Amino acid sequence: MDENLTLQNTPGEKKFKLLVVDDSDINRAILIAMLEEEFQIREAKSGQEAVEILEEEIDEISLVLLDVMMPKINGFDVLQIMNDKEWIRQIPVMMVSSSDAMELVKRAYELGAADYINRTMDGILIQRRVSNIIRLFERQKESLRRVEAERASLVEEKYWLQNKDELTGCWNFNSFKRRGEELIQENPDLEYSLWYADIRQFKFINETFGYDEGDRLLKYWVNMLLEYLDEKELVGRISADQIVVLTHKRENWKFAERFLVSTDKIRNFFNEPGINYDVEVVAGVYLCDTEEARSLTINQMLDLANVAQEEAKKQSGRCYQVYSHELWEKQSRAMKIKKHLKSAIENGEISVWMQPQYNYVTGEMVGAEALCRWNHKSLGNISPGEFIPILERSSQVTMLDRYVWEEVCKSLRRWQEEKRLSIALSVNISRIDIQEEGFYDYIKDLVTKYEIDPKLLRLEITESAYMEDSEQIIRIVEQLRQDGFIVEMDDFGSGYSSLNMLKDVPIDILKLDIRFLSETEYDAARGGNILSAVIRMAHSMNLPVIAEGVETMEQADFLKNLGCKIMQGYYFARPLPFEEFEQLLDRQQTGDLAINFHGEGLRNLSEIMDARSASGFVFDRCIGPSMLVEYDGEHMAVIMVNDAVFDVLGLEREVFEQKRHDFLGSVGSPYKEDMKEAMDEAIEYGFARGRGSSFGKSGWAQATYRLVSSGAYSHILFMQIEDLTKAHSMETEIEQLNRELLDYMDLMPGGMFRFEADGDMKISHVGKGLLDLLQYDSWEAFSEKFGDSFQSLVYEPDRARVIKEIRACAHREYCYCAHRIERGDGKIGWYYACGHAVKDNEGKTWYYVMLIKLDKAKQELFGVEDKLGDVE
Ligand code: C2E
Ligand code: CA
Ligand code: CA
Repeated sequence: MDENLTLQNTPGEKKFKLLVVDDSDINRAILIAMLEEEFQIREAKSGQEAVEILEEEIDEISLVLLDVMMPKINGFDVLQIMNDKEWIRQIPVMMVSSSDAMELVKRAYELGAADYINRTMDGILIQRRVSNIIRLFERQKESLRRVEAERASLVEEKYWLQNKDELTGCWNFNSFKRRGEELIQENPDLEYSLWYADIRQFKFINETFGYDEGDRLLKYWVNMLLEYLDEKELVGRISADQIVVLTHKRENWKFAERFLVSTDKIRNFFNEPGINYDVEVVAGVYLCDTEEARSLTINQMLDLANVAQEEAKKQSGRCYQVYSHELWEKQSRAMKIKKHLKSAIENGEISVWMQPQYNYVTGEMVGAEALCRWNHKSLGNISPGEFIPILERSSQVTMLDRYVWEEVCKSLRRWQEEKRLSIALSVNISRIDIQEEGFYDYIKDLVTKYEIDPKLLRLEITESAYMEDSEQIIRIVEQLRQDGFIVEMDDFGSGYSSLNMLKDVPIDILKLDIRFLSETEYDAARGGNILSAVIRMAHSMNLPVIAEGVETMEQADFLKNLGCKIMQGYYFARPLPFEEFEQLLDRQQTGDLAINFHGEGLRNLSEIMDARSASGFVFDRCIGPSMLVEYDGEHMAVIMVNDAVFDVLGLEREVFEQKRHDFLGSVGSPYKEDMKEAMDEAIEYGFARGRGSSFGKSGWAQATYRLVSSGAYSHILFMQIEDLTKAHSMETEIEQLNRELLDYMDLMPGGMFRFEADGDMKISHVGKGLLDLLQYDSWEAFSEKFGDSFQSLVYEPDRARVIKEIRACAHREYCYCAHRIERGDGKIGWYYACGHAVKDNEGKTWYYVMLIKLDKAKQELFGVEDKLGDVE
């Protein structure tokens, strides 16, 4: 038996209360006497009173002893009432009577009485029966309670399924909306806000980290939000990663702070060493801050929060955006744009304009980009900067682009038929276009249909597209290139991609928007560095660069010095209506250029003083032929080169451009070694002068090198070229004179030769007259006799003296001595040598010598009379 069902917990403590109902005072007293020892007793003198007591104290009473026969309301009537009020289920009723008539007993049981006893029954027995019935009933009640509890939990489960989100435990969308509407209505004094949030690229997260991880992330996030909210606030999940929060204003919108904290926490959810992925949450917020704002349905509020969220999503790094009326207007503008596109194309509201591209070096127009313009029926002129992104988001941009491409193809076709100058035209291809089914076929069919060379229709694909769907795009671009299309990467430098990536994507031309570099520019030098790095990189990969957004001559000159010559921008021409563009193209044909490219241009003082343009100006015009180069000990790349270099070296720009990224590789020996030596020296000492070298037919130049900066792997050097052609030509003149002198030696009658003043007095040139004078038939015979030394020419006995005399006058201007020479006829004669010293351009001193034969008279004169005899 259950412990808690003992009738008395402790002796003396009566646990159960009985209601004794009898109109007879005696009968009541007898019953009470039998039972009061064990039970608390409550008395009622009539059926009426019994009902009143039960009404009040039903929960305290455990059993009713009910007299059958009573005036007015008898026992059966009370039973009936208890039945009606369902009390009978809660409390057992024991009927008490002095009659055992069967129909009475039957009636009592029918009405739900638990027992029927005769008043005359033994007191002890009555006591037992009362206890038993109470116990039985309590037990029944207990199991009933259990069943009830089970049923309740079942109901709760059902409720859960109907109202809660299984994954996160927050509200599901329907109940969020219902509860949310109730809360807003029930709390008119609370200022609510509705947040509509999701995770950027949640699909990517699921696919990359797995769905379980995605689920874990959502649970973590929702729990973080739930923790913060009170009972008058809600979190709900619409689907996937879309979470809605209804929160009210406490302490200055603390929720916004909380939201930012939660976004900060989940940002690093996947980050650990080796994994680097920032989870980004973005929300739109609708504020119920006015009566009007509150009056919307929650669905409408969600729509507007959604509008705000879309706006927030457009800005990278933005966590939330509060809805405002301006936003709404912006969105409704967007709606007008989206809705009217089709009719706008049909009505001619959209036209194709052209912006020319020029070769800044030659001044030729080399291409043009098609840019669309929309004169909207109700909105007026709207800029592609506004409508293109809208149409991209709604995937309608393809309709527009296909129209533009077709217009461009038509023009190309017409030009061909009219035999006009035809240049390549670029069209813009949106990422959406490529994703569209059949893009490749469409483009191919277009050039087939209009019979144009694919290379005349250039395709500009923006850099960011390559980042997003790289594989698909790379595949399609590769196909197009194989078919002869030229593909340009547009907007390079807008910040998404690295230079390194260029190696992996198949493109023909890099389109570099220099505004991307200058807009964020706080110092122009950095922009210049990036620019030069990009251009160098592109050149080293043989990738031509088109610079766009060129607005000033300084920029154009700067780009040209960096080696980029194809340009597009307001400096050259704005986008023009098609007819105007055609006229310009026709003038181009006759050589009438839009701008004078090489004109000096008017520079006022302030322009020159402007820090940004001054250095460019100086580099360009003031310092003479110069280059800025990068040298890594092995290779040298030319970063900047000014026009003067081309002028002085007479270089072909085209030829130079091909070599500029490996300039040393194009220089032959020994100049290459000389340059390296000089640059190494400049790196060590800061400055070095290179050896002079020749170029072209008669040019002669010498470079000086200054170290600008040293990096870990390479050095930047400033190389200034000095034109030594004039100085050099003087040297060559001298050499020429020398040569002529030697020629004269041949022609002169009499003995002429030259020998080196130093060393062993080598003879280098012997005039024909000398051979005659000394009676030798040929140079061979002469050199067989004397070798090629002046010393051996001198007759041996005179030799030591002669050497001494000549050494004594060495490096002076003249030398002279008398000595004997053994002649070809075997005789020995006296001669007088008279030499004039001349330095050659290598610094050697030579004596140009005239040899005179001394006859007897002259021997006397020179004091060398035949001392040894044996002389003529
Ligand atoms: P984008 O392809 O980068 O085109 C160059 C934009 O720079 C054009 O703006 C052009 O007018 C502008 N621009 C050119 N030179 C200069 C300059 O020196 N200074 C300044 N400040 N701006 C210059 P636009 O025509 O407003 O076009 C904006 C963007 O809209 C284009 O950027 C392109 O992404 C898109 N777009 C234009 N037409 C089409 C089209 O037919 N199809 C597609 N998919 N996109 C287009
Ligand atoms: Ca473009
Ligand atoms: Ca561009």
